Amino acid sequence: MYLKGSAWSAALETLEFLEKNKVKGYVTGGAVRDTMLSREIRDIDIVLEASPDMVLHLFPQAVQPSSSFPVFIVPRHGCVFEITTFHPDQQSLRMNLERRDFTMNAMAVDRRGNLIDPCGGQSDINRQLIRSVYPPLDRMKEDPLRRLRAFRFVSEFDFSLEESTWQAVCADECGLQNTAEERIQREIEKMLEGRAGSRALELLLASGIVNDFPVSIKPRYILTNHKSPELADFSTMEEKWVVFFFLLYSEKAGQFVNRWPMKKSLRTRIRHIIHVCTANPDGVNWDTEMVYQNGWRTAIQIETVSQWLTGVPNSRRLEHIINLAHSLPITSRNDLKVDGADIVRQHPGLPGRWIGHLLTYLEEEVLQGRTANKREELLSLVKEKLSHER
Ligand code: ATP
Ligand code: MG
Repeated sequence: MYLKGSAWSAALETLEFLEKNKVKGYVTGGAVRDTMLSREIRDIDIVLEASPDMVLHLFPQAVQPSSSFPVFIVPRHGCVFEITTFHPDQQSLRMNLERRDFTMNAMAVDRRGNLIDPCGGQSDINRQLIRSVYPPLDRMKEDPLRRLRAFRFVSEFDFSLEESTWQAVCADECGLQNTAEERIQREIEKMLEGRAGSRALELLLASGIVNDFPVSIKPRYILTNHKSPELADFSTMEEKWVVFFFLLYSEKAGQFVNRWPMKKSLRTRIRHIIHVCTANPDGVNWDTEMVYQNGWRTAIQIETVSQWLTGVPNSRRLEHIINLAHSLPITSRNDLKVDGADIVRQHPGLPGRWIGHLLTYLEEEVLQGRTANKREELLSLVKEKLSHER
């Protein structure tokens, strides 16, 4: 294996530093796998034949994100290393690797750059297979999240699931009832993002794994009358999540989103798309107001999901949204040639709440084409309105 690049130099130098301190260390996990696949490496996992205390002694800059897991984040030579140690019942690197999830993740590289591959990861990578470390069912029972990771890797690499691994992934005795929602979400997100996302999603639904989700996010029933989505048709993560939620929760999608531990801003956008699609089951009637209120990007997202839901693809409706967006005189309140400060300057002492009302009024007048977005015209409209209201 050709270990090139600054990340690998930093990693091998770190292993050498460890050896000088009489500690054996190995690069494992994603970095070895991704290098073999000629993919850019993300983070570098290093495992040490040492105690967690030794990690802190050797790397005083190490940070331990969770006191319940002996995983240390170590910044070094411009890279970030994730350092773990052998579990107390593991006496060798081999035992450590045999406790991992899939063969392609169960390889290691020593400080001389030699590959250590006791589970046959390289051969599975060459055959484009996701294979559980033996024996599959026990592996899944040990940590049921591995069932989901299988689909995530199918999607990321466009590989096949080896038969006995698939059987174990489908086994309902390895429920995810006690798996943290955060971990589930991270794997689903990577699955939806991956290049074979559609195939992975189809496998995931066929496996029945969602019925073993924790009660909080377990679907009550699964939609069957929807065509399996072609995830590539949805260009943003918001849309992919919305589709996933509709598949799992149907018309209850809006309620269930709140139970997934998503970033607030992402959840708000997802909920909005779900809300508009649910409120318009036969499709949205796009007009100037609707495109303006949603913004054209969100309007396109809503329309794309809505067409999938109604099963009627129609590129002209998307063009219609773009045409409406082009014809909008303003795209947001910020585009008005008058702002709150201008109004206060012209009408000192005006109660604050009036300013908002007046801006909404101007926005509406400009949007409906009843006035031009020109400073003088807007200010005289304000004057006129106030003389009527007072
Ligand atoms: P990436 O970092 O590219 O998302 P990765 O495979 O490196 O992928 P990490 O979460 O960084 O994923 O985990 C590092 C390694 O730890 C994995 O390659 C695997 O060997 C092992 N591992 C991670 N999660 C599990 C798990 N749930 N069960 C068993 N082994 C795991
Ligand atoms: Mg990793």
